[in-house]
Amino acid sequence: MNHLLKDTILCLEKAAEIIGLDKKKMRTLEKPKRILKASLKIKTDKGMIKSFPAYRVQFNNKLGPFKGGIRFHPLVDLNEMEALALMMTLKNALIDIPFGGAKGGVRVDPLKLSKKELEALSRAYVAAFYKHLGPQKDIPAPDINTNPQIMAWMIDEYSRLLGKIELASFTGKPKELGGSEIREQATAQGGVYVLESFLKKIKFKRKNLEAAIQGFGNVGANTAKILYDQGYKIIALSDIKGGIVIKSKKRKGDIGLNPHKVEECVKEKGTLAGCYCRGSVCEVPNDHQKISNQKLLELETDILIPAAIENQITVKNAKRIKAKIILEMANGPTAFKADKILNQRGILVIPDLLANAGGVAVSYFEWLSNIKNEVWDKAESINCLKAMMESGLDKVYELSRQYKTDLRTAGYALALQRLYVRSHKKFSSTI
Ligand code: NAD
Repeated sequence: MNHLLKDTILCLEKAAEIIGLDKKKMRTLEKPKRILKASLKIKTDKGMIKSFPAYRVQFNNKLGPFKGGIRFHPLVDLNEMEALALMMTLKNALIDIPFGGAKGGVRVDPLKLSKKELEALSRAYVAAFYKHLGPQKDIPAPDINTNPQIMAWMIDEYSRLLGKIELASFTGKPKELGGSEIREQATAQGGVYVLESFLKKIKFKRKNLEAAIQGFGNVGANTAKILYDQGYKIIALSDIKGGIVIKSKKRKGDIGLNPHKVEECVKEKGTLAGCYCRGSVCEVPNDHQKISNQKLLELETDILIPAAIENQITVKNAKRIKAKIILEMANGPTAFKADKILNQRGILVIPDLLANAGGVAVSYFEWLSNIKNEVWDKAESINCLKAMMESGLDKVYELSRQYKTDLRTAGYALALQRLYVRSHKKFSSTI
């Protein structure tokens, strides 16, 4: 069993025990309802046929249609998809939206494909699974290495196969196709709402807070930009090839890295590690130097934000983490045993199920507006997102105090209660 799946189930069992939920009943939530597999064949630009393993795991639809992203990544495998689909089920329950959980992926390095090949692969994915997708069945969205353009190709293929246009069948679409105006920043913005609300609750000093962020894609880059704009000092950023860190944190007037400028540099150079430069577009009012992804995680900082991939904080490095707060924007960045070490060391972890739920929350608004044929304006979506994230944090925080446990266990407990109450209608709870 993959470590992420094992760890997710361990978290579930810990939460079930705390709220006194019968383990046997809870186990019905541990098995996926449907596993779809395919080998996607595409013709390359050189005329060769290549195939790629693809998956869609539809885990649980007790609370509504299956919902979850599609990832294109060389490490995609069935076990990982199962774990992420289970996490989606719990996340949607925690944030209280009427969706079940699913996840999909293709084992591919999309950076090695041309645009034409990427389009062919996206269409092949839909052709393989479309009978099980749809606004009331299963609604995919972007995840690692997938984006609004890929969703547009997928909707087009889905509508072609179905013979009618179904905009609500995918979320994270371009605005012209009924996508939300705030979807691109939604996950990041949701995480920042949770963080700010949490800091207020624990009365953490909120001036000039420092943050180090791993991952500079949709989630990492947007989180960095929002925090920077709100006056946080970004001390380090990274992507798959490595990172950059400011040299001296103590210099007066130091405002840290400017992620807007770093983003311009990344667009120019293609990778963040190549942005260690002076006299170039990425130069910021600091000296900065290269840092590895591992070292970034161990920096002394107020807030550490893993926003790349799973299993980054493990038993190997948990003892060396020096951040005071960890905001888990990636899915599954902390291993179960590492989490225990962090808790023992008093490091506060805002768990992924809550921290990164803003993306699916706004996907829900997008789906709802497509179904009702409405257009939501930006302010309306932002207000709803803020209210949903703050309410999620309030409930998780309350439960953590009630059960004298950490936020992760409380988050799992809340999700379990909602799933259990609504699917079995027996368990009396505090929700
Ligand atoms: P993305 O593809 O846009 O960006 C991923 C970033 O991580 C890139 O900068 C990439 O270079 C970096 N990266 C990849 N492998 C790495 C490694 N081994 N070490 C360090 N950095 C690495 O993906 P994203 O959409 O930003 O997703 C990031 C994480 O957030 C994932 O765990 C995803 O499941 C989770 N998430 C995303 C959303 C969303 O709305 N996009 C919502 C919820 C959760």
